[in-house]
This record gives sequence, C-alpha cells and structure tokens, in this order.
Amino acid sequence: MPRNPRYDILFEPVRIGPVTALNRFYQTPHATGMGYLKPESGAKLRGIKAEGGWGVVCTEYCSIHPSSDDSPFGFLTLWDEDDIRALMPTVEAIHAYGSLAGVELWHGGSHANNRLTREPILAPSARPALIPQPGSARAMDKADIKAFRTWHRDAALRAKRAGFDIVYCYAGHDYLPFQFLSPRLNLRGDEYGGSLANRVRLLRELIEDTHEAVGDRCAVAVRLSVDELHGSRGITSQGEGREILAMLAELPDLWDVNVSGSLGNDSRSARFSDEGFQEEHVGFVKGLTTKPVVSVGRFTSPDSMVSQIRRGIQDFIGAARPSIADPFLPRKIDEGREDEIRECIGCNICRSANNEAVPLRCTQNPTIGEEWRRGWHPERIEEAASSSRVLVVGSGPAGLECALTLGRRGHRVMLAEAGRKLGGRINRESNLPGLASWVRVRDYRLHMIGKLPAIDLFPESRLSAEDILALEADHVVLATGSRWRRDGIGSLGEEAAELGAGAILTPDDVFAGAEISGPVLIYDDEHYAVGGALAEKLSKEGHQVHLATPAAMLSSWTVMTDEQFFIQKRLLELSVRPLISQRLTGAANGVAELACVYTGRIRRHEFGTLILVTGRVAEDSLYRDLTAMTGQWQAAGIRSVTRVGDCLAPSSIADAVHAGHRWAREFDRPPAEIAPRRERPIPA
Ligand code: ADP
Ligand code: SF4
Repeated sequence: MPRNPRYDILFEPVRIGPVTALNRFYQTPHATGMGYLKPESGAKLRGIKAEGGWGVVCTEYCSIHPSSDDSPFGFLTLWDEDDIRALMPTVEAIHAYGSLAGVELWHGGSHANNRLTREPILAPSARPALIPQPGSARAMDKADIKAFRTWHRDAALRAKRAGFDIVYCYAGHDYLPFQFLSPRLNLRGDEYGGSLANRVRLLRELIEDTHEAVGDRCAVAVRLSVDELHGSRGITSQGEGREILAMLAELPDLWDVNVSGSLGNDSRSARFSDEGFQEEHVGFVKGLTTKPVVSVGRFTSPDSMVSQIRRGIQDFIGAARPSIADPFLPRKIDEGREDEIRECIGCNICRSANNEAVPLRCTQNPTIGEEWRRGWHPERIEEAASSSRVLVVGSGPAGLECALTLGRRGHRVMLAEAGRKLGGRINRESNLPGLASWVRVRDYRLHMIGKLPAIDLFPESRLSAEDILALEADHVVLATGSRWRRDGIGSLGEEAAELGAGAILTPDDVFAGAEISGPVLIYDDEHYAVGGALAEKLSKEGHQVHLATPAAMLSSWTVMTDEQFFIQKRLLELSVRPLISQRLTGAANGVAELACVYTGRIRRHEFGTLILVTGRVAEDSLYRDLTAMTGQWQAAGIRSVTRVGDCLAPSSIADAVHAGHRWAREFDRPPAEIAPRRERPIPA
C-alpha cells in the first residue's frame, strides 16, 4: 500500500551537522541489557532497527573510561582498540540500511558503582554514591577534570574510528556532566561550580572538545535533562534548564532533551504517563535553537508524531520503547500499514531486563533480544515445510501469539476459547486503573489474525479432552492459563495460611464481580502490578483499603519496572494504608493474623473483605485429562499435546507471549536448529 501523504513529513531527511538522517525516525539511546559482553547480540538488534526504517539508531550508554563502570548492568565501553573492533559490527549493521549510527558516550560519576574496576567514584563534589552503597565519591580536582576531558575526547575519536556518525555528550539521567550542572550535586567553589555559567562550563568544554576532535565527520549531540522534576531544588524547564539551553543553543549539532533526574521520570510507564507526556517540559527547546531537536514520549500514533513536527515541538520522533515493541514502526507507516504497528503498552518490562542485567525483553515483541541468540526476526518467519493443522486452546496472550505465529508460518489453526471474548487475562487486568493500554496485546494480535484466512476462531467453546479428540488436529497446544491461588502461599510466604470462613477472595473473584464489603485488606505476596492496582481501584471506589505485604515496600518487584516509587506515592496519596513486612498466617471470620517477618510478633487486623494476591496456579486440568488419554489421542492422529504460557508455568504476560511465539516457531524444527546461541569469551 502507498504511504498516506499525511505522513510524508515524517520521511523528510534532516541534516544534523555534517551528516543527514534519511527520515525523522530517531531511535534514541536505550539499554538492552547486552552491553560490551554481548556485542553480536547488540549489533543484530540495532541492525534490525535500521532495517525497520529508523533513520537514526543509537547505542546504549557507552563508558568512556574505567572510572565509570556500571557492572553488573549492560553498558558498552570505548576504553581501547578492542572496543572499537567490538562496536564496528553494530555500526555496519546500522549503515547497511542507510541509517545513521549514534553512540551515547557516558560517564556516570557518582551514579556508577565501579564494582568491576574498583576505581574510586568521581563527582563534582564529595558525596555518598548516588546508587546506595557504603561508599562515597571523591571530588574531582582540576587535574581530574582535565583528565576527564581527555578521556571523553579519546573515546570520541575511537567512536569515529568505529564509524559512528553521531557522538553524544551525555548530560542527563544524573550522570557526571549533569552532576556538574545540578545545583543539588555540584557544590564546588571554583570556576566549575557556583553560578550557572560556571556549572555549565564543563558541558561547554565537552561539546567544544568533541567538535574539535570528530566534528569534521561526526555530528555532536547533547543529551540534556531540561527538568529533573525535583522542583525548585533542581534544574527545571522553567528555570535553569531553559537557561542552559539558551547558553549553549547553537553549540551542538543536535539537542536530545528529556525530563530525567532518575531514569524513572524519563521512561514512565503508561500507568503514570500518556503519549507525549514530556511535551510540557521540552516544548520550549525549539524556540531557543536552530539545531534539530529530538525528544521522546512513547509515540506510537503517526498522527501524534506528525503533530509533534507540525507544532514545532521536535524535528525527529524520538523513541526507545516504541522501537522495542515494533522495530518496524517506520517501515509500516511508510508502506501504508500503520494499522499493523505493534504498539508499546508502556508496561516497562523492557526496563526490568536492564535492571536485572539480562538481555532485553518486551511484552509486545517476543523477538526483541532474540535476534542473534535464536535468529528471530520481528517481521520475517520461516515458512513451514509442510502445513499442519493445529488446535490452540485458550486465547490469552500465549494462545493468541501462538495462533498468529502459526498462521504466519502457513499452518492451519483452530483457536478455541471458553469465554465469549478473546483475550484471556488481558481482558481482566486491563480493566485495572492505569492498565488500559495492556489491551493492545490482545487487539494487535486479533487484528493481525483477522488478516490470515487460515486461522479460525471459536469463542464460547470450552473444550473437553473428548471434544479435542474429535477435532482432527495434528497438534494440540494448550494455552489455558492460570488462576489465582487461594491458599496464601506467595513468593515470601512459603507456608499456606490458615484460612477459615469469611469473605476471602482472589483477584479472579474481584474480576468476576464478587461483592466487596469494606474495610478491605489486600495481601500482596506477588509484588507486581495486580496487588497495588486493585488497592488503587478499590480505594477509588470508596473503600478503606489496607495493603499488607511481607516485602519491605509496596509492589516491591516494580522497582524493576521503574514504577515502585510512583505506585507507592499514588497509593499513599489515595490513603491506602501500607502494612509493610507483614506475613499473613491466618484469617477467618473477618480477622486476619499478620506476623512481622522479622520478630514474628502477631497483629490482628479486622477486615470486611480479604483479597489474596499471592501467586497463580496453572489451569492444566485439560492437560492432565489428555495425558491420561495419551493412547486415545495418538490413535486419533494427534501427534503432540503441549502446554504453553501460564498453564505450564504462570508468569508475566511478556513470558506468555514469548512462550506462545516460541512454540509456534520451533515445534516442527529439529532441536539442533533451535538451540539458542550464547556469547562467551573463548581463550585465544
Ligand atoms: P496465558 O497468559 O497463558 O495466555 P490466560 O489465562 O490469559 O493465559 O488465557 C487462558 C484462556 O484459556 C482463558 O481465556 C480461558 O478462558 C481459556 N480456557 C481455559 N480452559 C479452556 C478450555 N478448556 N477450552 C477453551 N478455552 C479455555
Ligand atoms: Fe513497551 Fe512494555 Fe515492550 Fe517496554 S516491554 S517496549 S514498555 S510494550
């Protein structure tokens, strides 16, 4: 299909200093959890972004010197010649599609642990390390500042030799150049501290040094946090953020601006931000500079993108998460296939991968992080050697993705669902406050399934083992999901609680419309989204809500998705009362017994309704029935019966999607072809 002319503006080339981007799609730097340890994985991932049409593709943060080491997280390095060789494949993979390759040179200052190198931590002023640990950063003296400038310059030269087109001076996310800018962190009394002009001095010098070193061939980009969201204590877009921009306006070749302070502000989940949420803070930038500007805001709608350009908010459409969820987003718009965009749902599971120091994963895109390791491409898939007839039972994220992927490979699929609506857990969880965008997991797949004639949908079809025998399938995939536990066993509570009579519910009961009488006690020993979101929902409905957890904070795993602070803040503002470090030992007749996880001291808590959010058990009764009838299904011509997703091992939606995808890709291929590769150092 031809491109909609309304979107032509997105495909205009844009000059950035000495280089030109072929369009306005700009994949801003983002972590992959791969870093210098997985150069081949990184190269393949970035190459696919370029193939997908991003005019600029940047790396993740790239340390300029061993005095900034973010182990165990996945960061790149440009410390020496070997690093140049390691990064060249990334540049080549990006250049193969005519895109520009950008590298985000990085020094973390007091926001780096230096656990690997054990170098002393550097900062503008002596202070405890910004990542809590029993250590402090030492204040940089003049010689350190001079050395830092040399390291940055040398790394820029290495970046140029590696072939990069855009070299960053990175003054955001609380890292070293930003620490010099921030009045909170820079308490120096010399010419690098005090007045704003003094605090800006180092960034100015970095830009000038980088221009002088590589500016003949490379564009110099500045990534600046224009608002720390610390109010008047920090840099704000109304105050010093604006002044810094004005002072340096024409110096870099490109401004990459955002709100940060911590990373959590910049990549807020959909629970706490809408598409384009940074505009109110970054919208002023273009008024102060003639240089191209890029920012982010989880843009997935081409109309919003056009609006950003036409209204003069930015020259590029910056994207990290939308490019992870759909590396081919630009190509799809270009080819008039914007309806096929796999829109980011803003769940921040991708952030959790970096925070856990493992390769990138994504709820919407099961192929991200698997490009090199398993050879998966987001848009291309191996056609089946011979078409099978596959019955998929259950239409949650695992079943939908499995059916879609099988259909793309040329198999004939019957997708049976007990309920009237397809979507499984998505239909329930997306009704919780702030999680509405999760429905995109269902809608994208149903939309794409609708384009494939070989997939037949059978809603309102609860299948028994006997039904399955009659359906003449070659293979049966069970994606029958899971249900919430009723016994109180959770991640931290190993033993079942003694549960007696009374209103003791699970989230499934609440989703099914069970009556709730207050006061409500929610017991969260799962620690992810549902416990906190239920507390928010019921509090907004007017109930008094206590949220008890054996963890030391509410929704504790959401530290990984950079949401925990925002969740606890919201719940406290809603007057949800936390009961921290409390393990549920029993409940009956409106009284729960909670034991302090440290002292064992018991407190009794009265409730109208107790909701247990502790974990899920697989809904695998159908599998067990079929296993008991193995001879019969084999005689009926069924060659395999497999469980995927939550009905095998309950987990995140991301894992369910991945499991469904993986089975569909791999079930008819020999094991040797599908074994994942590992990058590992092998002695020379
Ligand atoms: P997952 O996350 O693994 O995809 P979900 O719980 O989201 O799992 O979805 C499982 C789906 O399977 C639900 O929509 C449920 O109604 C459906 N299901 C469960 N048992 C059967 C069955 N016997 N026949 C048809 N559908 C079923
Ligand atoms: Fe978007 Fe979630 Fe994928 Fe991250 S993991 S890119 S937030 S859909």
